[in-house]
Amino acid sequence: MAQTLDIVTPNGHRYTQPTGLFINNEFVPATSGKTITSIDPATDKPIATVDAASADDVDRAVKAAKAALVHPSWKLLPATERGQLMARLADLMWENRELLASIDAWDNGKPYHVALDEDLVEATTTIRYYSGWADKTFGQTISTTPQKFAYTLRQPIGVVGQIIPWNYPLAMAAWKLGPALACGNTVVLKAAEQTPLSILVLATLVAKAGFPPGVINIVNGYGREAGAALTSHPLVDKVAFTGSTATGREIMKMAAGSLKNITLETGGKSPLLVFPDADMDQAVKWSHFGIMSNQGQICTATSRIFVHREILPTFLAEFKKAVEGVSIGDQWDANTFQGPQVTRAQYERILSYFEIAKNEGATLVTGGAAHVPSKEENKNGYFVQPTVYTDVTDSMRIVREEVFGPVVVILPFDTEEEAIERANNTSYGLGAAVFTTDLERAHRVAAEIETGMVWINSSQDCDPRIPFGGVKQSGIGRELGEAGLEAYSQVKAIHVNMGNKL
Ligand code: ADP
Repeated sequence: MAQTLDIVTPNGHRYTQPTGLFINNEFVPATSGKTITSIDPATDKPIATVDAASADDVDRAVKAAKAALVHPSWKLLPATERGQLMARLADLMWENRELLASIDAWDNGKPYHVALDEDLVEATTTIRYYSGWADKTFGQTISTTPQKFAYTLRQPIGVVGQIIPWNYPLAMAAWKLGPALACGNTVVLKAAEQTPLSILVLATLVAKAGFPPGVINIVNGYGREAGAALTSHPLVDKVAFTGSTATGREIMKMAAGSLKNITLETGGKSPLLVFPDADMDQAVKWSHFGIMSNQGQICTATSRIFVHREILPTFLAEFKKAVEGVSIGDQWDANTFQGPQVTRAQYERILSYFEIAKNEGATLVTGGAAHVPSKEENKNGYFVQPTVYTDVTDSMRIVREEVFGPVVVILPFDTEEEAIERANNTSYGLGAAVFTTDLERAHRVAAEIETGMVWINSSQDCDPRIPFGGVKQSGIGRELGEAGLEAYSQVKAIHVNMGNKL
């Protein structure tokens, strides 16, 4: 039996939680004896310690998923009922949204109101959206000759290993689980070691929703051990990963061993272009949200802002006002816009970029240091100041590298061609934003930017119905929308000879 903890969140939600690995609908202890201690980033104090999977534990989980794949309770379950199970899971997530949002806020550092109003809405609607797809994915019938035709079956890929990051723990789990389950796969999902807690509650809800044992297995574990074991396991047919580009590269190498199907959603250094005819209020509002929301810990963060030289002084003044106008604090204050960074490692990494930018000669507009919190209990928290640089060159590290924090560079441009060329001068290609009131320019630029997504007069819009993913070193494949189903199903062609002449 796995150990069970009695936990009370800082905002008063009490729950009991087995800390083990969720395999075959049961919480079992990790054989490794290894653990992960989750830390509250606002206070630097431990929250809870949970089991961490070893390679042997991952093997157990994968074998459970493999057995469930062909078990009649899943394989022969009518697709409509599969969708109903998913809808039940979505309902349970929604009923428990306050608890789940509290845990993610505590564990990750994001403001509770954001976790509740954004993350939980996204996570629940994604599962619900894909529950509707479960009985709406079909093959085709294709005529060939008068005697022959072929039809296609859309079948699951098999056992899917899913590795998720810490910036949106439940939403990322939902993005991965939704399409995989809709297409009839079975899953072993590994949460990020920085945010191991909410996924355990989700596991409880999976069992409660009535999924057959082994269909969804959820483990906590360290990337190098559990993540690597999952990625290289011979019985895993597909790996879906969201995280850094460096880890994505490792995953691709490991998955090559058995030529696994992969989906990668990795890093970004997304550009945002402000043309002289843009609505200035909108441009400032979305530019701010695009880099400073979620503590800047978003792969699609628009972290390079290109502003037409004519309007640069006005934009800079307004943007500085927006950046300095937000409230920094802990997760529980309803006024908090920016909470602490997720871990000490991320906090220190951001501080190191402040040094890098300084040494490179960037001009600091605002920020550039750790933030000193007003509450005594937050004095050891991982707070940084939202930071803006200008007078940077395209070759500086602060312009080229993903900081993954509330740090942005602002660069002037003179012509549309120049803006596009410089926006595209990056190894990444995830998102991009264009601010203009010129309809023609908006769509022309959107078509020319080398990314998987473009926002016109907005930033960070994301919806379960809309494909999400990157080009270049920002990823392979698409998640969400109908495109997300492609990533979790394969097409089998069946040739039929109806006649006896050929
Ligand atoms: P970050 O650097 O922001 O923590 P990572 O890309 O390292 O992002 O982590 C994202 C996810 O990938 C986490 O679940 C982590 O445990 C996992 N991970 C990290 N390293 C590996 C690895 N070598 N193999 C498989 N998974 C890994």
